[in-house]
Amino acid sequence: MSIKENLKKIIATLPEGVTLVAVSKTKPIETIMEAYNAGQRVFGENKIQEMTQKWEQLPKDIEWHMIGHVQRNKVKYMAQYVSLIHGVDSLKLLKEIDKQAQKHNRVIDCLLQMHIAKEETKFGLNPKELEELISSNEFRTLKNIKIKGLMGMATFTENTLLIKGEFQDLKTTFEKLRKKLDGIEILSMGMSGDYSIAIAEGSTMVRIGSSIFGERNYS
Ligand SMILES: *Cc1c(COP(=O)(O)O)cnc(C)c1O
Repeated sequence: MSIKENLKKIIATLPEGVTLVAVSKTKPIETIMEAYNAGQRVFGENKIQEMTQKWEQLPKDIEWHMIGHVQRNKVKYMAQYVSLIHGVDSLKLLKEIDKQAQKHNRVIDCLLQMHIAKEETKFGLNPKELEELISSNEFRTLKNIKIKGLMGMATFTENTLLIKGEFQDLKTTFEKLRKKLDGIEILSMGMSGDYSIAIAEGSTMVRIGSSIFGERNYS
């Protein structure tokens, strides 16, 4: 199937209010343009340099989301244009984003990444670390970032019950956070393999790559 048909099929399954982030990492400009010409405007990348090159070359009405792990020394390259940073998992990083956003006289929307998977390798905060971060005095002084919600990645497994449980945990944390901070509205969970489970558990934003663009080739 074509990219256009893949997009159409996926969008048809998304409830109202769920945003599709088309994950275009490793994909060339022409491929992204195919999705753009089919109407897609929100794209996700996991490397800042790759995203910046694409931002330079592609139409300026694209919303670029940084979905990968963010190195602090690279925030400056995306501070001018990034729409949403999904993978914020420390106050240190948040401070750097705030500092770079200030230079461009803007507020950068961020999601805090939670560690929900059983795997050791995934980044993210646990509920206690989240609590510490948002209740710290330093956090309150940051004027050029806005926390819009949470992001999480479930364990990579065939065990749908495990995935479901991890998404439920994230949703619970999200609901608690909503009571503590204003403007919490985005729950970013779900990828090609598990987005229907994520939606059933309350996702408001899915990050889908291979089901739109086909398998990635890293060679
Ligand atoms: C690559 C990636 C995705 C998309 O993965 P697919 O399985 O191709 O849909 C989603 N979220 C993050 C954080 C990713 O790195």
